[in-house]
Amino acid sequence: MATTVTIPQSLLPADGRFGSGPSKIRPEQSAALEAAGSTLLGTSHRQAPVRQLVASIREGLAGFFSLPEGYEIVLGDGGASAFWDLACANLIRRKAACGSYGSFSAKFAQSVASAPFLDNPVIFESKPGSYRLPELTEGTDAYCWAHNETSTGVAAPVQRIAGSREQDALIIIDATSGAGSLPVDISQCDAYYFSPQKAFGSDGGLWLAALSPAAIRRAYSVTDDARRDGSPRWIPPFLSLRSAIENSRKDQTLNTPAIATLVMLAEQVSWLNSNGGLAWSSARCAHSANTLYTWAQNSDYAEPFVAEAAARSNAVVTIDLDEAVDASQVIAALRSNGIVDTAGYRKLGRNQLRIGVFPSVEPDDVEALTHCIDYVVERL
Ligand SMILES: *Cc1c(COP(=O)(O)O)cnc(C)c1O
Repeated sequence: MATTVTIPQSLLPADGRFGSGPSKIRPEQSAALEAAGSTLLGTSHRQAPVRQLVASIREGLAGFFSLPEGYEIVLGDGGASAFWDLACANLIRRKAACGSYGSFSAKFAQSVASAPFLDNPVIFESKPGSYRLPELTEGTDAYCWAHNETSTGVAAPVQRIAGSREQDALIIIDATSGAGSLPVDISQCDAYYFSPQKAFGSDGGLWLAALSPAAIRRAYSVTDDARRDGSPRWIPPFLSLRSAIENSRKDQTLNTPAIATLVMLAEQVSWLNSNGGLAWSSARCAHSANTLYTWAQNSDYAEPFVAEAAARSNAVVTIDLDEAVDASQVIAALRSNGIVDTAGYRKLGRNQLRIGVFPSVEPDDVEALTHCIDYVVERL
């Protein structure tokens, strides 16, 4: 029998959204949307007002990530999943080495493996709850992995693989849930790509990438190669990174974007920058994550899923529950009290809670969440 637990109002967080993506959208972002309701929404993305919005996002992100000289913010439609196919079509010349340690990093490795014009990738795998970076591999021109493996709550370092520069290889990082939450030195990679519905608290449907001069050169030279007679490579026009770069330089996208997504994203970028940028947001996320990890370690029914403390994510926190406590009941009880999206990644199949602690989530609400979980568990 499912029991219903009513959590006292005084314990509840002010906002009950703890999803790992889509994630909490701040009221100021919805207000920005409302304000754009009769100005930007429903107007041409080729005209100055929407292009200025895109420009503010590109400039804001360039500042937020302290982009090194020559790096550019590029964007297009389709989200990070689309960028996986863009990377296969435009950035990997022939052979990639991929880290695979959870659903998202595995899916990208699978995309590479299924591209008929690429060699089979060399996959460096480790079990969920850990990470493994790709190692220096002969004949490789791209090294790929995820900054934050959203399915397991593991954060991996972003750093050049020793020897990869001599190979002229690119470092391509899926930063979808890491970007904006975790510290990064962008000079350590060539493509740092993400969708806006995680740390940037907007809606999905868009991809953004910080690209190095080497990545931009690669996109152009691969496009030239693909145009040669007899080239086995096909770059579908929608997946042309060169078109995305050229459109982005004009503060546009190849095809029609969701303007609402851009409005909410622009609001978030400006909010993050006005508070102190990435240093501020990553410290805030670290604080929230630490609240959960410390609570779990002190609890007699919960523990952090990721064994190695240094690999624990400050963006998405995974907590295993003792088998005596049914996570699905805890998650359902929280949901009935307005605390939503705390479930572990379905395919991981663990008795687990997974909590997004992106910058939009108030650290006090994370603290309140721990009390709510305790309250529920005591009464189930
Ligand atoms: C959410 C996520 C994706 C997929 O993003 P979409 O915008 O849904 O395509 C890819 N990689 C990681 C690490 C993610 O967290």
